[in-house]
Amino acid sequence: MKSRWSDKKLRAFVDRYAPKYGEALAIRAYSSQLLGSDPELVLHGGGNTSVKEPFENILKESIPAVHVKGSGWDMATTGPEGFVPLDLGKLLSLERLDSLDDTAMFGQFALAKLLPVSFNPSIEALAHAWIGKKYVDHTHANAILTLTNRVDGVSVVQEALGEDVVVRPYLHPGFALSKDLSEAVKDHPRARGVVLLKHGLFTFADDPKISYETHIELVDRAETYIRKKSSRTFFDLSTASSPPPFVSDLIPFVRGLLAEKTDTPDRPYRPVVLSLIRDQELLKIISHPEARKFVGGPVLTADFLIRTKPWIAFVEDPDVKNLDRLKEQIRETVQAFIGRYTDYHERGIRRTGRSHPMFNPAPRILALPGLGVFCSGPTLKEARITADLARVTLKVKSRIAAMNGTYKGIDEDELFEMEYWAPQLAKLSKKRGALAGKIAVVTGAAGAIGSAICRRLLEEGCCVAGTDLPGERLEALREELSAEFGDHYGSGHGCHRRGERAKGV
Ligand SMILES: [Zn+2]
Repeated sequence: MKSRWSDKKLRAFVDRYAPKYGEALAIRAYSSQLLGSDPELVLHGGGNTSVKEPFENILKESIPAVHVKGSGWDMATTGPEGFVPLDLGKLLSLERLDSLDDTAMFGQFALAKLLPVSFNPSIEALAHAWIGKKYVDHTHANAILTLTNRVDGVSVVQEALGEDVVVRPYLHPGFALSKDLSEAVKDHPRARGVVLLKHGLFTFADDPKISYETHIELVDRAETYIRKKSSRTFFDLSTASSPPPFVSDLIPFVRGLLAEKTDTPDRPYRPVVLSLIRDQELLKIISHPEARKFVGGPVLTADFLIRTKPWIAFVEDPDVKNLDRLKEQIRETVQAFIGRYTDYHERGIRRTGRSHPMFNPAPRILALPGLGVFCSGPTLKEARITADLARVTLKVKSRIAAMNGTYKGIDEDELFEMEYWAPQLAKLSKKRGALAGKIAVVTGAAGAIGSAICRRLLEEGCCVAGTDLPGERLEALREELSAEFGDHYGSGHGCHRRGERAKGV
Protein backbone atom coordinates (compact mmCIF):
# COMPACT_ATOMS: atom_id res chain seq x y z
CA MET A 1 0.00 0.00 0.00
CA LYS A 2 1.32 3.39 -0.98
CA SER A 3 0.48 6.90 0.19
CA ARG A 4 -1.92 8.68 -2.15
CA TRP A 5 -1.38 12.10 -0.56
CA SER A 6 -1.37 14.87 -3.15
CA ASP A 7 -0.71 18.48 -2.20
CA LYS A 8 -2.54 19.56 -5.33
CA LYS A 9 -5.70 17.67 -4.40
CA LEU A 10 -5.42 18.88 -0.84
CA ARG A 11 -5.33 22.48 -2.10
CA ALA A 12 -8.58 21.85 -3.98
CA PHE A 13 -10.20 20.72 -0.70
CA VAL A 14 -8.87 23.75 1.14
CA ASP A 15 -10.10 26.11 -1.61
CA ARG A 16 -13.51 24.49 -1.53
CA TYR A 17 -14.10 24.05 2.20
CA ALA A 18 -11.81 26.35 4.16
CA PRO A 19 -13.86 29.54 3.65
CA LYS A 20 -16.85 27.95 5.42
CA TYR A 21 -15.30 25.35 7.73
CA GLY A 22 -11.68 26.45 8.23
CA GLU A 23 -8.49 24.88 6.96
CA ALA A 24 -8.14 22.15 9.61
CA LEU A 25 -11.52 20.62 8.76
CA ALA A 26 -10.88 20.92 5.03
CA ILE A 27 -7.65 18.96 5.49
CA ARG A 28 -9.47 16.52 7.76
CA ALA A 29 -12.05 15.82 5.07
CA TYR A 30 -9.32 15.31 2.49
CA SER A 31 -7.32 12.68 4.37
CA SER A 32 -10.51 10.99 5.61
CA GLN A 33 -11.60 10.52 2.04
CA LEU A 34 -8.17 9.19 1.11
CA LEU A 35 -8.57 6.49 3.75
CA GLY A 36 -12.27 5.94 3.13
CA SER A 37 -12.01 5.46 -0.62
CA ASP A 38 -9.65 2.50 -0.33
CA PRO A 39 -11.66 -0.71 0.20
CA GLU A 40 -8.59 -2.38 1.72
CA LEU A 41 -8.92 0.16 4.55
CA VAL A 42 -12.57 1.05 4.95
CA LEU A 43 -15.79 -0.69 3.97
CA HIS A 44 -19.37 0.46 4.48
CA GLY A 45 -19.02 2.61 7.55
CA GLY A 46 -16.03 0.98 9.26
CA GLY A 47 -13.48 3.46 10.62
CA ASN A 48 -13.60 7.10 11.69
CA THR A 49 -11.40 10.16 11.97
CA SER A 50 -11.21 13.43 13.89
CA VAL A 51 -9.43 16.75 14.25
CA LYS A 52 -9.01 18.99 17.26
CA GLU A 53 -9.67 22.57 16.32
CA PRO A 54 -11.33 25.40 18.29
CA PHE A 55 -14.98 25.99 17.44
CA GLU A 56 -16.27 29.51 17.16
CA ASN A 57 -19.76 29.85 18.57
CA ILE A 58 -22.44 32.40 17.68
CA LEU A 59 -20.94 34.91 20.14
CA LYS A 60 -17.59 34.58 18.34
CA GLU A 61 -16.15 32.83 21.38
CA SER A 62 -13.54 30.17 20.70
CA ILE A 63 -14.21 26.82 22.40
CA PRO A 64 -11.67 23.96 22.42
CA ALA A 65 -13.31 21.23 20.32
CA VAL A 66 -12.84 17.85 18.72
CA HIS A 67 -14.62 17.33 15.40
CA VAL A 68 -15.47 13.64 15.06
CA LYS A 69 -16.85 11.93 11.96
CA GLY A 70 -20.58 11.36 12.35
CA SER A 71 -21.93 7.84 12.77
CA GLY A 72 -23.35 6.58 9.48
CA TRP A 73 -21.35 9.00 7.32
CA ASP A 74 -19.29 7.31 4.63
CA MET A 75 -15.61 8.19 4.90
CA ALA A 76 -15.18 7.86 1.12
CA THR A 77 -17.37 10.87 0.43
CA THR A 78 -17.84 12.81 3.67
CA GLY A 79 -16.91 16.49 3.64
CA PRO A 80 -16.55 18.70 6.76
CA GLU A 81 -20.34 18.73 7.14
CA GLY A 82 -20.18 15.08 8.27
CA PHE A 83 -18.10 15.91 11.36
CA VAL A 84 -19.68 16.78 14.71
CA PRO A 85 -17.95 19.52 16.75
CA LEU A 86 -17.87 18.43 20.40
CA ASP A 87 -16.81 20.38 23.46
CA LEU A 88 -13.36 18.95 24.13
CA GLY A 89 -13.27 20.11 27.76
CA LYS A 90 -16.49 18.22 28.54
CA LEU A 91 -15.23 15.02 26.93
CA LEU A 92 -11.83 15.26 28.62
CA SER A 93 -13.45 15.52 32.04
CA LEU A 94 -15.24 12.19 31.41
CA GLU A 95 -11.90 10.42 31.49
CA ARG A 96 -12.01 10.74 35.28
CA LEU A 97 -14.87 8.22 35.38
CA ASP A 98 -14.17 4.53 35.87
CA SER A 99 -17.04 3.42 33.68
CA LEU A 100 -19.89 4.81 31.63
CA ASP A 101 -22.62 2.78 29.98
CA ASP A 102 -23.57 3.34 26.35
CA THR A 103 -26.80 5.20 27.06
CA ALA A 104 -25.07 7.61 29.41
CA MET A 105 -22.21 8.03 26.95
CA PHE A 106 -24.56 9.01 24.13
CA GLY A 107 -26.24 11.39 26.54
CA GLN A 108 -22.88 13.04 27.16
CA PHE A 109 -22.26 13.25 23.41
CA ALA A 110 -25.58 15.07 23.06
CA LEU A 111 -24.58 17.52 25.80
CA ALA A 112 -21.17 18.10 24.23
CA LYS A 113 -22.41 18.89 20.71
CA LEU A 114 -21.57 22.45 19.70
CA LEU A 115 -23.94 22.39 16.73
CA PRO A 116 -27.52 21.09 16.80
CA VAL A 117 -26.88 18.37 14.22
CA SER A 118 -29.23 15.40 14.24
CA PHE A 119 -26.54 12.72 13.94
CA ASN A 120 -24.28 11.26 16.60
CA PRO A 121 -20.50 11.25 16.53
CA SER A 122 -18.79 7.94 16.01
CA ILE A 123 -19.01 5.46 18.89
CA GLU A 124 -15.25 5.87 19.27
CA ALA A 125 -15.52 9.65 19.87
CA LEU A 126 -14.08 9.45 23.40
CA ALA A 127 -10.94 7.77 22.09
CA HIS A 128 -10.58 10.58 19.56
CA ALA A 129 -10.98 13.18 22.29
CA TRP A 130 -8.58 11.53 24.72
CA ILE A 131 -5.69 10.89 22.33
CA GLY A 132 -3.70 14.09 22.74
CA LYS A 133 -2.86 14.70 19.09
CA LYS A 134 -4.58 17.02 16.66
CA TYR A 135 -5.36 14.41 13.96
CA VAL A 136 -6.53 10.87 14.72
CA ASP A 137 -7.14 8.26 12.00
CA HIS A 138 -8.87 4.92 12.59
CA THR A 139 -9.66 2.11 10.15
CA HIS A 140 -10.46 -1.61 10.24
CA ALA A 141 -7.86 -2.33 7.53
CA ASN A 142 -8.05 -5.81 6.04
CA ALA A 143 -4.31 -6.45 6.41
CA ILE A 144 -4.42 -5.49 10.10
CA LEU A 145 -7.37 -7.86 10.70
CA THR A 146 -5.40 -10.58 8.92
CA LEU A 147 -2.75 -10.21 11.60
CA THR A 148 -5.04 -9.73 14.61
CA ASN A 149 -7.73 -12.36 13.99
CA ARG A 150 -5.66 -15.37 14.90
CA VAL A 151 -4.82 -17.20 18.08
CA ASP A 152 -1.30 -15.74 18.16
CA GLY A 153 -2.44 -12.24 17.12
CA VAL A 154 -0.35 -10.27 19.62
CA SER A 155 3.01 -11.75 18.65
CA VAL A 156 2.21 -11.69 14.94
CA VAL A 157 1.28 -7.99 15.02
CA GLN A 158 4.41 -7.17 16.96
CA GLU A 159 6.60 -9.17 14.61
CA ALA A 160 4.99 -7.64 11.51
CA LEU A 161 4.69 -4.00 12.60
CA GLY A 162 7.57 -3.55 15.02
CA GLU A 163 8.03 -2.30 18.55
CA ASP A 164 6.79 1.25 17.97
CA VAL A 165 3.23 -0.06 17.67
CA VAL A 166 1.19 -0.88 20.77
CA VAL A 167 -1.12 -3.91 20.71
CA ARG A 168 -4.22 -3.92 22.87
CA PRO A 169 -6.84 -6.63 23.48
CA TYR A 170 -10.33 -6.60 22.01
CA LEU A 171 -12.67 -4.44 24.06
CA HIS A 172 -16.29 -3.47 23.58
CA PRO A 173 -16.36 -0.20 21.58
CA GLY A 174 -17.29 2.84 23.63
CA PHE A 175 -16.01 3.94 27.02
CA ALA A 176 -13.92 0.85 27.92
CA LEU A 177 -12.12 0.78 24.59
CA SER A 178 -11.49 4.53 24.63
CA LYS A 179 -10.08 4.48 28.14
CA ASP A 180 -7.77 1.57 27.42
CA LEU A 181 -6.59 3.17 24.18
CA SER A 182 -5.95 6.53 25.76
CA GLU A 183 -3.94 4.92 28.58
CA ALA A 184 -1.93 2.90 26.07
CA VAL A 185 -1.01 6.08 24.19
CA LYS A 186 -0.04 7.86 27.41
CA ASP A 187 2.04 4.89 28.57
CA HIS A 188 3.87 4.71 25.24
CA PRO A 189 4.57 8.31 24.24
CA ARG A 190 6.77 7.18 21.35
CA ALA A 191 4.13 4.86 19.87
CA ARG A 192 3.26 5.58 16.25
CA GLY A 193 0.05 3.61 16.29
CA VAL A 194 -2.18 1.29 18.31
CA VAL A 195 -3.57 -1.99 17.02
CA LEU A 196 -6.73 -3.26 18.68
CA LEU A 197 -7.10 -7.00 18.35
CA LYS A 198 -9.99 -8.13 16.12
CA HIS A 199 -10.83 -4.51 15.49
CA GLY A 200 -8.34 -2.24 13.70
CA LEU A 201 -5.67 0.44 13.74
CA PHE A 202 -5.37 3.94 15.23
CA THR A 203 -2.68 6.42 14.17
CA PHE A 204 -2.33 10.02 15.34
CA ALA A 205 -0.13 13.08 14.92
CA ASP A 206 -0.37 16.83 15.06
CA ASP A 207 0.45 16.83 11.35
CA PRO A 208 -2.35 15.36 9.20
CA LYS A 209 0.01 13.99 6.58
CA ILE A 210 2.12 12.19 9.19
CA SER A 211 -0.97 10.62 10.76
CA TYR A 212 -2.24 9.47 7.34
CA GLU A 213 1.12 8.26 6.06
CA THR A 214 1.90 6.41 9.29
CA HIS A 215 -1.41 4.62 8.81
CA ILE A 216 -0.48 3.66 5.26
CA GLU A 217 3.04 2.66 6.26
CA LEU A 218 1.80 0.32 8.99
CA VAL A 219 -0.79 -1.27 6.71
CA ASP A 220 1.92 -1.65 4.06
CA ARG A 221 4.16 -3.38 6.62
CA ALA A 222 1.28 -5.73 7.43
CA GLU A 223 0.69 -6.48 3.74
CA THR A 224 4.38 -7.15 3.13
CA TYR A 225 4.53 -9.48 6.12
CA ILE A 226 1.45 -11.38 4.93
CA ARG A 227 2.95 -11.80 1.45
CA LYS A 228 6.24 -13.03 2.88
CA LYS A 229 4.62 -15.53 5.20
CA SER A 230 2.04 -16.87 2.74
CA SER A 231 2.44 -20.14 0.99
CA ARG A 232 2.49 -19.42 -2.72
CA THR A 233 1.00 -22.81 -3.50
CA PHE A 234 -1.99 -22.48 -1.21
CA PHE A 235 -4.48 -21.91 -4.00
CA ASP A 236 -2.84 -24.06 -6.64
CA LEU A 237 -4.80 -26.98 -5.25
CA SER A 238 -8.00 -25.24 -6.21
CA THR A 239 -10.76 -27.30 -7.72
CA ALA A 240 -12.47 -24.18 -8.94
CA SER A 241 -13.84 -24.30 -12.43
CA SER A 242 -16.74 -22.76 -14.29
CA PRO A 243 -19.85 -23.03 -12.16
CA PRO A 244 -22.40 -25.53 -13.45
CA PRO A 245 -25.14 -24.04 -15.63
CA PHE A 246 -27.88 -24.64 -13.07
CA VAL A 247 -26.67 -21.97 -10.63
CA SER A 248 -29.48 -19.73 -11.83
CA ASP A 249 -31.99 -22.50 -11.01
CA LEU A 250 -30.78 -22.40 -7.43
CA ILE A 251 -31.45 -18.70 -6.94
CA PRO A 252 -35.23 -18.87 -6.36
CA PHE A 253 -34.74 -21.94 -4.18
CA VAL A 254 -32.11 -20.22 -2.01
CA ARG A 255 -34.21 -17.04 -1.82
CA GLY A 256 -37.07 -19.14 -0.48
CA LEU A 257 -34.88 -20.78 2.15
CA LEU A 258 -33.35 -17.51 3.36
CA ALA A 259 -36.61 -15.53 3.49
CA GLU A 260 -37.74 -14.42 6.92
CA LYS A 261 -40.71 -16.33 8.28
CA THR A 262 -43.31 -14.18 10.06
CA ASP A 263 -46.35 -14.81 12.27
CA THR A 264 -48.59 -12.78 9.98
CA PRO A 265 -51.02 -15.12 8.14
CA ASP A 266 -51.52 -12.83 5.14
CA ARG A 267 -47.79 -12.29 4.78
CA PRO A 268 -46.09 -15.46 6.00
CA TYR A 269 -42.60 -14.43 4.97
CA ARG A 270 -40.47 -11.40 4.14
CA PRO A 271 -38.48 -12.03 0.99
CA VAL A 272 -34.77 -11.32 0.60
CA VAL A 273 -32.72 -10.25 -2.40
CA LEU A 274 -29.55 -12.11 -3.32
CA SER A 275 -26.23 -10.84 -4.50
CA LEU A 276 -24.12 -13.66 -5.90
CA ILE A 277 -20.32 -13.73 -5.83
CA ARG A 278 -18.84 -16.00 -8.46
CA ASP A 279 -15.48 -14.55 -9.45
CA GLN A 280 -12.55 -16.93 -9.76
CA GLU A 281 -10.68 -15.64 -6.71
CA LEU A 282 -13.59 -16.22 -4.34
CA LEU A 283 -14.50 -19.53 -6.01
CA LYS A 284 -10.94 -20.68 -5.40
CA ILE A 285 -11.11 -19.66 -1.76
CA ILE A 286 -14.36 -21.45 -0.95
CA SER A 287 -13.47 -24.48 -3.07
CA HIS A 288 -10.09 -25.04 -1.42
CA PRO A 289 -9.86 -28.44 0.31
CA GLU A 290 -9.15 -26.68 3.62
CA ALA A 291 -12.00 -24.17 3.25
CA ARG A 292 -14.27 -26.06 5.62
CA LYS A 293 -11.74 -25.39 8.39
CA PHE A 294 -11.55 -21.64 8.02
CA VAL A 295 -14.79 -20.41 6.40
CA GLY A 296 -17.19 -21.09 9.25
CA GLY A 297 -15.55 -19.13 12.13
CA PRO A 298 -16.92 -15.77 13.31
CA VAL A 299 -16.87 -12.69 11.08
CA LEU A 300 -13.94 -10.28 11.12
CA THR A 301 -15.14 -7.29 13.10
CA ALA A 302 -18.11 -6.42 15.22
CA ASP A 303 -19.44 -3.81 12.81
CA PHE A 304 -19.99 -6.49 10.13
CA LEU A 305 -22.44 -8.43 12.28
CA ILE A 306 -25.67 -6.63 11.49
CA ARG A 307 -25.02 -7.33 7.79
CA THR A 308 -23.42 -10.75 7.88
CA LYS A 309 -24.64 -12.52 11.04
CA PRO A 310 -21.95 -14.12 13.21
CA TRP A 311 -20.99 -16.91 10.82
CA ILE A 312 -20.95 -17.94 7.17
CA ALA A 313 -23.00 -21.03 6.27
CA PHE A 314 -20.86 -23.48 4.35
CA VAL A 315 -22.20 -26.39 2.29
CA GLU A 316 -19.66 -29.19 2.49
CA ASP A 317 -18.97 -31.25 -0.62
CA PRO A 318 -21.94 -30.02 -2.62
CA ASP A 319 -23.07 -32.47 -5.25
CA VAL A 320 -22.70 -30.21 -8.27
CA LYS A 321 -23.88 -32.92 -10.67
CA ASN A 322 -27.23 -33.59 -9.08
CA LEU A 323 -29.53 -30.61 -8.61
CA ASP A 324 -32.04 -32.42 -6.37
CA ARG A 325 -29.33 -33.75 -4.07
CA LEU A 326 -27.67 -30.34 -4.02
CA LYS A 327 -30.92 -28.67 -2.99
CA GLU A 328 -31.24 -31.16 -0.14
CA GLN A 329 -27.68 -30.37 1.00
CA ILE A 330 -28.40 -26.64 0.96
CA ARG A 331 -31.63 -27.11 2.87
CA GLU A 332 -29.85 -29.16 5.54
CA THR A 333 -27.08 -26.56 5.87
CA VAL A 334 -29.55 -23.69 6.21
CA GLN A 335 -31.62 -25.59 8.77
CA ALA A 336 -28.53 -26.41 10.81
CA PHE A 337 -27.54 -22.73 10.72
CA ILE A 338 -31.02 -21.64 11.83
CA GLY A 339 -30.83 -24.07 14.75
CA ARG A 340 -27.39 -22.81 15.75
CA TYR A 341 -28.44 -19.17 15.47
CA THR A 342 -31.64 -19.74 17.46
CA ASP A 343 -29.63 -21.35 20.28
CA TYR A 344 -27.10 -18.49 20.19
CA HIS A 345 -29.90 -15.93 20.45
CA GLU A 346 -31.55 -17.79 23.33
CA ARG A 347 -28.26 -18.02 25.22
CA GLY A 348 -27.59 -14.32 24.62
CA ILE A 349 -31.04 -13.30 25.88
CA ARG A 350 -30.62 -15.46 28.99
CA ARG A 351 -27.16 -14.08 29.70
CA THR A 352 -27.91 -10.40 29.16
CA GLY A 353 -31.53 -10.27 30.27
CA ARG A 354 -32.41 -8.30 27.15
CA SER A 355 -35.61 -8.97 25.30
CA HIS A 356 -34.78 -8.09 21.72
CA PRO A 357 -36.68 -10.32 19.28
CA MET A 358 -34.54 -12.56 17.14
CA PHE A 359 -33.54 -11.32 13.70
CA ASN A 360 -34.21 -13.58 10.75
CA PRO A 361 -32.18 -16.64 11.85
CA ALA A 362 -31.36 -17.71 8.29
CA PRO A 363 -27.79 -17.16 7.08
CA ARG A 364 -26.92 -13.95 5.28
CA ILE A 365 -23.94 -15.60 3.58
CA LEU A 366 -24.10 -19.08 2.10
CA ALA A 367 -20.92 -20.46 0.53
CA LEU A 368 -21.16 -23.32 -1.96
CA PRO A 369 -17.76 -24.63 -3.07
CA GLY A 370 -17.53 -24.74 -6.85
CA LEU A 371 -20.69 -22.69 -7.23
CA GLY A 372 -20.40 -19.31 -5.52
CA VAL A 373 -21.31 -17.31 -2.45
CA PHE A 374 -24.97 -16.33 -2.06
CA CYS A 375 -25.32 -13.12 -0.03
CA SER A 376 -28.74 -11.95 1.10
CA GLY A 377 -30.32 -8.78 2.37
CA PRO A 378 -33.77 -7.25 2.77
CA THR A 379 -32.97 -4.97 -0.21
CA LEU A 380 -30.61 -5.15 -3.15
CA LYS A 381 -28.41 -2.45 -1.64
CA GLU A 382 -28.14 -4.34 1.65
CA ALA A 383 -27.47 -7.63 -0.14
CA ARG A 384 -24.60 -5.97 -1.98
CA ILE A 385 -23.14 -4.58 1.24
CA THR A 386 -23.30 -8.10 2.68
CA ALA A 387 -21.53 -9.39 -0.44
CA ASP A 388 -18.72 -6.83 -0.03
CA LEU A 389 -18.26 -7.82 3.60
CA ALA A 390 -18.41 -11.55 2.74
CA ARG A 391 -15.73 -11.04 0.12
CA VAL A 392 -13.39 -9.35 2.62
CA THR A 393 -14.13 -11.89 5.34
CA LEU A 394 -13.33 -14.81 3.07
CA LYS A 395 -10.20 -13.18 1.69
CA VAL A 396 -8.82 -12.42 5.15
CA LYS A 397 -9.62 -15.91 6.42
CA SER A 398 -7.94 -17.48 3.41
CA ARG A 399 -4.84 -15.29 3.87
CA ILE A 400 -4.55 -16.42 7.47
CA ALA A 401 -4.88 -20.04 6.32
CA ALA A 402 -2.25 -19.43 3.63
CA MET A 403 0.11 -18.23 6.40
CA ASN A 404 -0.58 -21.47 8.32
CA GLY A 405 -2.26 -19.38 11.00
CA THR A 406 -5.31 -20.38 13.02
CA TYR A 407 -8.24 -17.97 12.75
CA LYS A 408 -9.69 -16.59 15.97
CA GLY A 409 -12.63 -14.20 15.88
CA ILE A 410 -14.64 -12.40 18.53
CA ASP A 411 -16.05 -14.55 21.37
CA GLU A 412 -19.71 -15.54 21.31
CA ASP A 413 -20.73 -13.30 24.23
CA GLU A 414 -19.40 -10.25 22.46
CA LEU A 415 -20.84 -11.33 19.09
CA PHE A 416 -24.29 -11.27 20.66
CA GLU A 417 -23.58 -8.01 22.51
CA MET A 418 -22.62 -6.30 19.28
CA GLU A 419 -25.26 -7.81 17.02
CA TYR A 420 -28.06 -6.70 19.33
CA TRP A 421 -26.41 -3.45 20.44
CA ALA A 422 -28.51 -0.28 20.26
CA PRO A 423 -26.03 1.89 18.29
CA GLN A 424 -25.75 -0.85 15.67
CA LEU A 425 -29.50 -1.46 15.56
CA ALA A 426 -30.00 2.25 14.89
CA LYS A 427 -28.19 1.78 11.59
CA LEU A 428 -30.88 -0.69 10.52
CA SER A 429 -33.88 1.38 11.44
CA LYS A 430 -34.28 2.95 8.00
CA LYS A 431 -37.72 2.56 6.49
CA ARG A 432 -38.05 0.11 3.64
CA GLY A 433 -40.84 0.07 1.06
CA ALA A 434 -43.77 -2.37 1.34
CA LEU A 435 -42.36 -4.39 -1.57
CA ALA A 436 -38.73 -4.44 -0.38
CA GLY A 437 -37.15 -7.79 -1.18
CA LYS A 438 -39.62 -8.52 -3.99
CA ILE A 439 -38.58 -8.82 -7.61
CA ALA A 440 -40.91 -8.08 -10.49
CA VAL A 441 -40.62 -8.53 -14.23
CA VAL A 442 -42.67 -6.02 -16.19
CA THR A 443 -43.33 -6.87 -19.83
CA GLY A 444 -44.20 -4.05 -22.20
CA ALA A 445 -42.27 -1.77 -19.83
CA ALA A 446 -41.60 0.98 -22.35
CA GLY A 447 -45.31 1.73 -22.88
CA ALA A 448 -47.25 4.32 -20.87
CA ILE A 449 -48.91 1.77 -18.56
CA GLY A 450 -45.80 -0.44 -18.34
CA SER A 451 -43.52 2.41 -17.35
CA ALA A 452 -46.02 3.66 -14.75
CA ILE A 453 -46.18 0.16 -13.26
CA CYS A 454 -42.36 0.00 -13.13
CA ARG A 455 -42.21 3.33 -11.35
CA ARG A 456 -44.90 2.43 -8.83
CA LEU A 457 -43.21 -0.88 -7.98
CA LEU A 458 -39.83 0.83 -7.60
CA GLU A 459 -41.30 3.46 -5.32
CA GLU A 460 -42.42 0.65 -3.01
CA GLY A 461 -38.90 -0.78 -2.85
CA CYS A 462 -39.34 -3.59 -5.40
CA CYS A 463 -36.52 -4.63 -7.77
CA VAL A 464 -37.81 -4.39 -11.31
CA ALA A 465 -36.63 -5.94 -14.56
CA GLY A 466 -38.46 -4.23 -17.42
CA THR A 467 -38.59 -5.83 -20.86
CA ASP A 468 -39.88 -4.62 -24.17
CA LEU A 469 -38.94 -4.43 -27.82
CA PRO A 470 -35.51 -2.92 -28.28
CA GLY A 471 -35.48 0.75 -29.10
CA GLU A 472 -35.19 4.30 -27.94
CA ARG A 473 -38.20 4.20 -25.61
CA LEU A 474 -36.88 1.29 -23.62
CA GLU A 475 -33.45 2.90 -23.47
CA ALA A 476 -34.88 6.23 -22.32
CA LEU A 477 -36.89 4.47 -19.61
CA ARG A 478 -33.77 2.66 -18.42
CA GLU A 479 -31.87 5.91 -18.17
CA GLU A 480 -34.68 7.66 -16.35
CA LEU A 481 -35.41 4.90 -13.82
CA SER A 482 -31.78 3.95 -13.24
CA ALA A 483 -30.96 7.58 -12.48
CA GLU A 484 -33.73 7.68 -9.89
CA PHE A 485 -33.69 4.16 -8.45
CA GLY A 486 -30.16 2.97 -9.21
CA ASP A 487 -29.66 -0.75 -9.62
CA HIS A 488 -33.17 -1.53 -8.46
CA TYR A 489 -34.17 -1.14 -12.09
CA GLY A 490 -32.75 -3.13 -14.99
CA SER A 491 -34.16 -3.46 -18.44
CA GLY A 492 -33.54 -4.98 -21.79
CA HIS A 493 -35.01 -7.14 -24.44
CA GLY A 494 -34.19 -10.50 -22.92
CA CYS A 495 -32.11 -9.20 -20.01
CA HIS A 496 -33.01 -12.41 -18.18
CA ARG A 497 -30.72 -14.27 -20.54
CA ARG A 498 -28.16 -11.62 -21.11
CA GLY A 499 -26.76 -10.41 -17.89
CA GLU A 500 -26.14 -10.51 -14.19
CA ARG A 501 -28.68 -7.82 -13.51
CA ALA A 502 -31.79 -9.96 -13.75
CA LYS A 503 -30.02 -12.96 -12.24
CA GLY A 504 -28.37 -10.99 -9.51
CA VAL A 505 -31.39 -9.21 -8.17
ZN1 LIG B 1 -13.44 0.88 15.02
